[in-house]
Amino acid sequence: MAPALIGLVGVGNMGAPMARRLAKAGHGLILYDLNREAAGALSGEEVGIAVADSLRDLGARCGVVITMLPNADIVRAVVIGGEDAGSLAQGMTRGGVVIDMSSSAPTATQSLGRELADLGIDLVDAPVSGGVPRARDGTLTIMAGGAPKTLDRIEPILAAMGTVQRTGGLGSGHAMKALNNYVSAAGLIAVCEALIVARRFGLDPRTLNAVLNVSTGRNNTTDKKVEQFILNRAFDSGFALDLMRKDVGIAHDLAAGLDLDAPWLKGCADLLDQASRALGAGADHTAAFAYLEQRLTGASRGPEG
Ligand code: NAD
Repeated sequence: MAPALIGLVGVGNMGAPMARRLAKAGHGLILYDLNREAAGALSGEEVGIAVADSLRDLGARCGVVITMLPNADIVRAVVIGGEDAGSLAQGMTRGGVVIDMSSSAPTATQSLGRELADLGIDLVDAPVSGGVPRARDGTLTIMAGGAPKTLDRIEPILAAMGTVQRTGGLGSGHAMKALNNYVSAAGLIAVCEALIVARRFGLDPRTLNAVLNVSTGRNNTTDKKVEQFILNRAFDSGFALDLMRKDVGIAHDLAAGLDLDAPWLKGCADLLDQASRALGAGADHTAAFAYLEQRLTGASRGPEG
């Protein structure tokens, strides 16, 4: 019997390298993306990857379907309906599993899970951390929430993309991811502000970052972003500012829904809203530095400014 095919919807910055890891691990894949060229290019470069004509078609051919999409509304439209291309649920049969690896909203995930359960389909939330480099290496951290029996069934698939951390019931992975990205975003903003203050004081920003990296101020931004994407003004890490804005907004909604008025979280969400509006769609999250530079000093700078 041929091995079961895995469906993957969304082959953008993250979905494409994740598809390559799955194919290299020997899984047969069927892809769907609104961007048909992106899906077609992947099927051309890797053996064992095909492209579906519609979401219904993909759902009908796969027992397990992964989604790697921008947000909860798009995930719901793809899974349940509202798309010209039909929905996954129109094609999938009872016993199927949807693994939502997008960074989505925990309460939306829980209600999608209830709708799918009525159709006999299981939902797992399995968002990831590590960005494009670790998606390429297959070393993502995968935060998986859902029924333990379903997680047992799909863990061998997830293992091709990274290390699974079980977080609890459905929605817990998405809550975990939003809180992780809040902590990461707060660190980014703090480092950007420190770089700008340092420069005005006459302290070389490169020196500042080098010392932070061997001191208690070290974080993911000092380690993986300042030299690589910020001080050289490349601003091209592959993670959009608007996606970070979405994630911190989810964390803020989560806190507010639990009657928790978290001031740092609110400040961070507001700042990312403003930065995202100012820089527009397409800006990388590391360009938050340029936004803060403009806001604090009134000046925008050229390369290495
Ligand atoms: P992306 O914008 O690069 O890719 C999204 C893909 O989804 C695109 O190819 C787009 O064409 C496709 N798409 C959008 N709507 C669709 C629809 N209705 N039907 C089919 N395809 C559709 O985004 P990304 O950076 O790959 O992020 C994907 C998810 O992963 C997001 O939830 C993001 O927050 C999360 N994430 C991203 C990173 C990162 O570093 N980029 C890291 C961790 C998590």
